[in-house]
Amino acid sequence: MLLPQPTAISDWRLVYSGWTLSLKSLLIPFREIKVECTIPKDDGTLVSYVGFRIQHDNARGPMKGGIRYHPEVEPDEVNALAQLMTWKTAVANIPYGGAKGGIGCNPRDLSKSELERLTRVFTQKIHDLIGIHTDVPAPDMGTNAQTMAWILDEYSKFHGHSPAVVTGKPVDLGGSLGRETGRGVAHTREGGKIVAVSDITGAIKNPKGIDIPELLKHREATGSLKSFGGGDSMDPMNCFVHECDVLIPCALGGVLNRQNAADVKAKFIIEAANHPTDPADEILSKKGVVILPDIYANAGGVTVSYFEWVQNIQGFMWDEEKVNKELKKYMTQAFHNIKNMCQSHDCSLRMVPLPSR
Ligand code: GLU
Repeated sequence: MLLPQPTAISDWRLVYSGWTLSLKSLLIPFREIKVECTIPKDDGTLVSYVGFRIQHDNARGPMKGGIRYHPEVEPDEVNALAQLMTWKTAVANIPYGGAKGGIGCNPRDLSKSELERLTRVFTQKIHDLIGIHTDVPAPDMGTNAQTMAWILDEYSKFHGHSPAVVTGKPVDLGGSLGRETGRGVAHTREGGKIVAVSDITGAIKNPKGIDIPELLKHREATGSLKSFGGGDSMDPMNCFVHECDVLIPCALGGVLNRQNAADVKAKFIIEAANHPTDPADEILSKKGVVILPDIYANAGGVTVSYFEWVQNIQGFMWDEEKVNKELKKYMTQAFHNIKNMCQSHDCSLRMVPLPSR
């Protein structure tokens, strides 16, 4: 006799129970959305892109996560990032589940009006599946406050003015003060000397320390790190194996991998990007490198997103001091929770013990 095969969550429930049930059902995203987005380019030709929103889990609250515009956006990657958001919001102890979205495009090749048309078409395709208490997008790689403003405007045409449907908006449209990228990470690295920096345009090193405000001014003025007088230029890939105590990968996933992990000199890695260390944990831990995992280290952004959502729902605006104070409180509490868990279970900061069956 053929037994029914477990194909849906309801079937898993018959086969698994307790923790095993939760683990199995968490492998399957709550919902995967894939949409075609066709827009006219500025020259009148039509071009089609594929957009995704993958909603991983909503057991703890509305699903939450960014929307990225990047040529490498594809469903498996978005799915993995959506799962990370579920763990991240749980670690930060904010009442959300996890989601992630994106469009496979190179935003640098699109004009501002093309980006606006693309964002609005994408919103038209997904507006029924996001919402204040359902799924709340935010910026990610290749998107910003302007992108969120377009989503909010388009969404509001269908559902009425709903500022809490996206976070990371411009402050004038209900965005929160104190949401600049990296604030949460800054709380964990305050007091250090920065000896090398890279971005998409290049990399700079200076063993005596780089003057970051000056570097930012230079990049603002020239659009690039190149030709900055306060350091020597270097190959951006060498940044990851540069002599330093603390290494902070901040943008792409997978930059520390089996090819370069053995050459890492840092004693600590703070994962400001999502899964930048992939898959190199084993090599790095054998070298004694301590990794502060992404779902904690870059949880500051989604935590301030939570504050923004709360302010929008309350119709009340916090001052920057209150945002910073609350962020510090959440980041510190989450760190103590992780540290205590790791000490009592004798495991790395990334691993939490699986409950026994
Ligand atoms: N994109 C950010 C992240 O990966 C923020 C997500 C959010 O605020 O919803 O954590």
